[in-house]
Amino acid sequence: MTLPKIPLAGVIGHPIAQSKSPQVHGHWLRTFGIKGHYIPMDVNPSDLKKVIKALPKMGFVGVNVTIPHKERVMDLVHQVTDRATLIGAVNTLIIREDGKIIGDNTDGYGFIENLRQAAPNWQAADGPAVILGAGGAARAVIASLLDAGVPEILISNRTRVRAETLREEFGTRLTVVDWFQAGNAIEGGATIVNTTSLGMAGKPDLRVPLDGLKPSAVVTDLVYNPLETQLLAAAKDVGCTTVDGLGMLLHQAVPGFERWFGTRPTVDDATRQAALK
Ligand code: NAP
Repeated sequence: MTLPKIPLAGVIGHPIAQSKSPQVHGHWLRTFGIKGHYIPMDVNPSDLKKVIKALPKMGFVGVNVTIPHKERVMDLVHQVTDRATLIGAVNTLIIREDGKIIGDNTDGYGFIENLRQAAPNWQAADGPAVILGAGGAARAVIASLLDAGVPEILISNRTRVRAETLREEFGTRLTVVDWFQAGNAIEGGATIVNTTSLGMAGKPDLRVPLDGLKPSAVVTDLVYNPLETQLLAAAKDVGCTTVDGLGMLLHQAVPGFERWFGTRPTVDDATRQAALK
């Protein structure tokens, strides 16, 4: 009798000990009684090519890829999806039975799904979105908001040229606003997103003036440590609906788990608790 293969998945990064993905996928594997494993893998950049090549032979059905490998891995896979190409980074690899590796990006999906779950009345058409920051995470947020149908995005970043580059790539629905005028942009925003690392434990707070923030705005922060950033606390005081960043991390994991293990997980309170352990 041949025993069925045990599907393996995991996350590749450097460092990797801080990743919450093993707790999340481990929780789902246990919840559904799937005999698979999801492991953290600390891979040095100089070993990345060899490691990716070996995955199909080792029984991996897929992996997540995180900092600092998200861009470089695009050249190491057989195919990259359109949305990963648009975002310019890959965070999920799917390994087919024939050994071919597909690179996808589920960060934008995770961002929108989190917004929809935590702010069910949110509509892309409600008005302009204001994005603070222009790093890697901002790219996924922009791609998903444009795809969802926001009429306009005002983007503001400390280093203005990075925001201008995104304007050139993503097109005319984007307007670049000077960092010192970010407070003015917020006045007209229906959706406010912090994609900078400001507000994270150990970093300074985001000090953008919120005087003009409308109570009808939905405010979300990609930072999830702490869960309630100073931005979210201030927005809550104004009466805004606020959405923390942990949900994005959880929702971006859903498409990978479903492809690898054949069951679509739901993001519920037990999933959040598993990530916070
Ligand atoms: P990144 O590419 O390094 O970009 C960092 C951004 O923060 C840039 O816009 C940078 O502005 C800005 N920034 C950093 N320090 C600043 C300061 N002192 N003053 C003003 N702006 C500052 O990082 P990333 O990958 O985009 O990640 C950004 C944040 O999102 C991180 O906190 C990350 O943990 C979080 N994130 C969360 C999720 C999730 O699932 N919730 C997913 C991805 C990322 P400059 O261009 O001027 O340097």
